[in-house]
Amino acid sequence: MFDKLLIANRGEIAVRIQRACRELGIKTVAVYSEADADAPYLETADEAICIGPTASRRSYLNADAIIMAALATGAGAIHPGYGFLSENAAFSEAIAAAGLTFVGPSATAIRTMGDKVAAKRAMIAAGVPCVPGPDSALPQDFDTVSRIAAEIGYPVIIKAAGGGGGRGMRVVHSDRELKDAVDLTREEALRFFNNAEIYIEKFLENPRHIEIQVLCDSHGNALWLGDRDCSMQRRHQKVIEEAPAPGIDRAVIAAIGERCANACRQIGYVGAGTFEFLYEDGEFYFIEMNTRVQVEHPVTELVTGVDIVAMQIRAAQGERFKLAQSDIATSGHSIECRINAEDPFTFLPSPGLVTKLDLPSGDGVRVDTHLRAGYTVPSSYDSLIAKLIVHGATREEALTRMRQALGNLHIGGISTNIPLQIELLAEPGFANGGVNIHHLEHWLKERRVA
Ligand code: ADP
Repeated sequence: MFDKLLIANRGEIAVRIQRACRELGIKTVAVYSEADADAPYLETADEAICIGPTASRRSYLNADAIIMAALATGAGAIHPGYGFLSENAAFSEAIAAAGLTFVGPSATAIRTMGDKVAAKRAMIAAGVPCVPGPDSALPQDFDTVSRIAAEIGYPVIIKAAGGGGGRGMRVVHSDRELKDAVDLTREEALRFFNNAEIYIEKFLENPRHIEIQVLCDSHGNALWLGDRDCSMQRRHQKVIEEAPAPGIDRAVIAAIGERCANACRQIGYVGAGTFEFLYEDGEFYFIEMNTRVQVEHPVTELVTGVDIVAMQIRAAQGERFKLAQSDIATSGHSIECRINAEDPFTFLPSPGLVTKLDLPSGDGVRVDTHLRAGYTVPSSYDSLIAKLIVHGATREEALTRMRQALGNLHIGGISTNIPLQIELLAEPGFANGGVNIHHLEHWLKERRVA
């Protein structure tokens, strides 16, 4: 048990974790780099401590500095948020070695899921459907690789086992392109991820991105909390997320949700996690598991009423969940728009002084943000500055609420993608629901032409 928790992150998620801690009666320690010394959430934390210079490598990615800060302030646990060290097995091990609690799964679970080949093998063993292709790394011998590709059938995709952030992947349309693609991806895998292992699977041409949220305690209780549709992506970055996924039979979702919960029981998973799937022609194909809280977790919170971050912390405290799967019901529809400090046309980052901030409010409207007027968005980190989340009884109602809320969200002094989000909410494809992962990029291309 711990009564003080260090938040090893910044921005909106630092605010979100503080709120969960306050509700649980846990004291908070905020950490900051020199660039974040003026962040508003440092004032609302019980304590704040500087962990290093602006460069993430020397602050938010500096495990030693973070653990030292926890020990110095008497925090018993560390919540990693998302990004930074949240999926770093060595960090979780170092925290345990220092006698502290990591709010997340075991280092073993992080390691297995961080290696996409190992993850795929574990999922196949647990009965979770995966993209067709072998559950092992590609051999060096090219003739064998060529035979495997032909068996799967083109197009195929070559992926780095240690890949992440949408990098280290290459689509191959014919045997002619295969050799170069394999060599290049192997080289990249080694260079970017320090792991030359690559694997191959079927390339799905027009899938949707559907994910299942899970939540597990350390006593073998594994719950699934419904699904999210995150198909609105640009360069593999999610732009709008919603729950539930429009137009998919609830019985099909329930079947896949049960399989995910079962997989968690089999691997002894603890904490919050997300199973990401591609969904095409009525079938689900596992692509990866995120072993942390996700940016888009609020849409699930709004349809289930479950506080995912609080439950994550309870799980880390060793608490046995009082919730059972039969207590989880979803109601209505939720949508999240990510608000980024960037130009709505060129997507160039737009850091700087926020001169004015008007936030929307009202029934079914939630804003997760660390902004306030007078705050300067630093140029050194991710451009996510706010998340606008709405809930409605139906998808139609949620869409209407989001349109209104976007119209009432004003951030002065810097450029944001609010105008883009307003356009997207008016776009018939998205409004109809069920678009695939290429929809947004196609739409952007046409917008450029028009
Ligand atoms: P990362 O960890 O880098 O995000 P993922 O395995 O989650 O990598 O894949 C990122 C994205 O790449 C997916 O959301 C999807 O758009 C695309 N992708 C990955 N695997 C496939 C596949 N087999 N078929 C089609 N698209 C894929």
